[in-house]
Amino acid sequence: MSTPAIEAQGVRQVFGKKGEVVALDGLDLSVEAGTVFGLLGPNGAGKTTLVRVLATLLQPTAGSARVLGHDVVSQALAVRRRIGLAGQFAAVDEELSGRENVEMVGRLYRLPAREAKRRAAEVLERLGLSDAADRPVSTYSGGMRRRLDLGASLVGRPPVLLLDEPTTGLDPRTRQELWTTVDELRRDGTTVLLTTQYLEEADRLAQRIAVVDHGRIVAQGTANELKATIGTELLSVRIADPARIADAAAALAELATGEEPLVDAAAGEIRFAVADPALSAEAVRRLDARGLAIAAVELQQPSLDDVFLTLTGRRAAEHDTADSEEVAA
Ligand code: ADP
Ligand code: MG
Repeated sequence: MSTPAIEAQGVRQVFGKKGEVVALDGLDLSVEAGTVFGLLGPNGAGKTTLVRVLATLLQPTAGSARVLGHDVVSQALAVRRRIGLAGQFAAVDEELSGRENVEMVGRLYRLPAREAKRRAAEVLERLGLSDAADRPVSTYSGGMRRRLDLGASLVGRPPVLLLDEPTTGLDPRTRQELWTTVDELRRDGTTVLLTTQYLEEADRLAQRIAVVDHGRIVAQGTANELKATIGTELLSVRIADPARIADAAAALAELATGEEPLVDAAAGEIRFAVADPALSAEAVRRLDARGLAIAAVELQQPSLDDVFLTLTGRRAAEHDTADSEEVAA
């Protein structure tokens, strides 16, 4: 296998006078070049701290990390030249126009003025901001600012992009647009490390996902591999006569594994985890034996949400916490 684009070994980061806050607790990570790697974890898991270490903004207390083979501490400048960083809070100058903001970042990369202009126009076009490019950023919506921030991180055409919760708080449409952009960047060969609290986002974008909690990776793999680690599937049974739901629940109770079955009395539906898919046939037999007619039986793979709950004991973030609507450009 080729050298990973991003590597972390035993990264530990503590905060506080006595080092009482352990943000990263010996974290290992390896991201293959040209892929999107999703770092999925709840608030406070250590995602931003890891991004800051990789971006050379924070020196780890212990352990080491490399970006494209360059050490983030001893070769920080080489790392900075190769990364783009965009995050949850757009770092843009309100008074300047979108174009001026992006050109300014280009100049910080020491691009000649003409090249900075050319690349600014290119990223503004790519992020659908061409029409609004010459308005002050103070007139932009939250989604537009976030896209501008991402645009600014792309001016230097970095081979490695660090995106820290890039869609948190965005409305669904803007989120979709950012997802499309991330896909395109990956297809063009960019390596992306993306942190998120959204399972759907990791599932949609990442070739590989690591679940992080309390500063450690608690599981990693493809979305399907993570789903398979639960080792259970969900059986959902709907009976024809919802009035007999209690009877049905009693018939199926001992087939369930893990949590209590979910009973939707009005719909006549019972859902529960089974350790073995063959138990769906047994469920049908038991209902039959009690003369309960069946309207539907379905066996489902667990969702990434179920994986997250199993690993961290918490539900992931609810999705639609949009704090911004696009204003018409
Ligand atoms: P996430 O981005 O996953 O929400 P963070 O990396 O921001 O998590 O934080 C991980 C932990 O480290 C949290 O407990 C947070 O309060 C703590 N932390 C982060 N930065 C600092 C800091 N500069 N000083 C003290 N504690 C911090
Ligand atoms: Mg964070």
